[in-house]
Amino acid sequence: MLVGHLGVGLIGKRVEPRISLGTWMLAVLLADLVCFPLLIARVEHFRDSVGDIPYSHSLLMNAIWAALFAAAYYLFRRYPRGAWLLFGAVLSHWVLDVISHKPDMQIAPGVETVLGLGLWNSVPATLVIEGGFWVLAIVIYIRATRPKKMGFYFAFWIGIALLTLTWYGNIRRGMDPDPVRAGVGGLIFFWIIVAWAYWTNRLARSSNS
Ligand SMILES: [Zn+2]
Repeated sequence: MLVGHLGVGLIGKRVEPRISLGTWMLAVLLADLVCFPLLIARVEHFRDSVGDIPYSHSLLMNAIWAALFAAAYYLFRRYPRGAWLLFGAVLSHWVLDVISHKPDMQIAPGVETVLGLGLWNSVPATLVIEGGFWVLAIVIYIRATRPKKMGFYFAFWIGIALLTLTWYGNIRRGMDPDPVRAGVGGLIFFWIIVAWAYWTNRLARSSNS
């Protein structure tokens, strides 16, 4: 899932404007940002479009990544509500991936039970459900946001358009079977998304902050 996670980040910014949109995006993408280096190192794998990704994507490990991320935020910002919300945002990655993945989502490393509702099996259902959620999240975000600097709308909508096109390409083509290419490409692309979100955040003002 791509824009589904990013939608959680956009709505998060509406829920708690004190947290930068970049930090929200970092939280919702954290499991994938952990996964890509592990793919490159061949510790985690994708085979026949089903993943073997216990360290980045199991429920237990996601909770641990969430706790570490929330603790780091708390150390820097001393804002408990923000830390708890970001804990939830990191954990939301697991819930959304259970909805979208074929059964490959584990509870904990070494536990055989796998979960996955397989939304991605159907391109039309993905377009309607994940795409619908994405549109809803964009509307929620933009209604609560006012430009602070020239260029906000330009930066925001170009980013949204490129993300939507990339997402559409991904659901049609699937993942790159080469783990190094997929991992390196994913790392670069996801860090660009995070940088774009921090930049966009500086160009805007939340109307309720
Ligand atoms: Zn994921």
